[in-house]
This record gives sequence, C-alpha cells and structure tokens, in this order.
Amino acid sequence: MPGIFERIDDEKGKDIRVLGDFIAIFCRENHRVEAKDTFPIKDARLRNSLGDKNLELCQGCRKLLNHGIAKLLLCPYDPKPMCKECQTHCYAPSYRERIREVMRFSGLYLIKHGQQGLI
Ligand SMILES: [Zn+2]
Repeated sequence: MPGIFERIDDEKGKDIRVLGDFIAIFCRENHRVEAKDTFPIKDARLRNSLGDKNLELCQGCRKLLNHGIAKLLLCPYDPKPMCKECQTHCYAPSYRERIREVMRFSGLYLIKHGQQGLI
C-alpha cells in the first residue's frame, strides 16, 4: 500500500514500537520450534518506529504484525483511541483473538522481567 507509512507520526510510531516488541516477545517465548525469519521492513520510518532492529518472527507472527501495523496506520480516528478501548473492531476476528493473547502475555512478561525482557 503506497504512502501508508507517511501516516507514521510520534504517537503512531510509539504504538508500532509496542506492537513490534510485544509480538516479538510473544513469538520468542511461545513459538520456539517454528521456523523464524526476519520481519521485512522496506520503509525507513517504519524501521525507525520498530526501534531500528531486526525482529525474528515465525510466519504467523509476521502476518500478525503486518496486519496490526496496517490497521494502526489506517485507523479512521484522529486522535486514535487506545485500541483496547475502541468500539470499532478493525482487526479480522482471528487476528483480534491472537493480538489479545499477545498483549496479555507480553504485558505480564514485561512486568515480571522489566526492560531486560525486551528483544
Ligand atoms: Zn510466532
């Protein structure tokens, strides 16, 4: 989707960072046996938002992160509400369930392990 990354501002950049970190932690801790590959990032702004690092994810998590980034950048609201407080369910149902699980797991993981738990 051309031009979508032009929508990255400070707020959305931060949200993308959290999304990437949370999915990366979840994948590292839960998908140990799946084949991993580097999440492909072609856009410099996106790379910057994701903390300028390579995320090694399984195929399912790469798709989930792609979906999440697209939904975040295409959010029709300005300012964007917190996703968990939003009335609009913009994620496809299967992704919605998975992202909830990711947020729950990685949120708790970071409370237990602090910043060292980050990738
Ligand atoms: Zn995974």
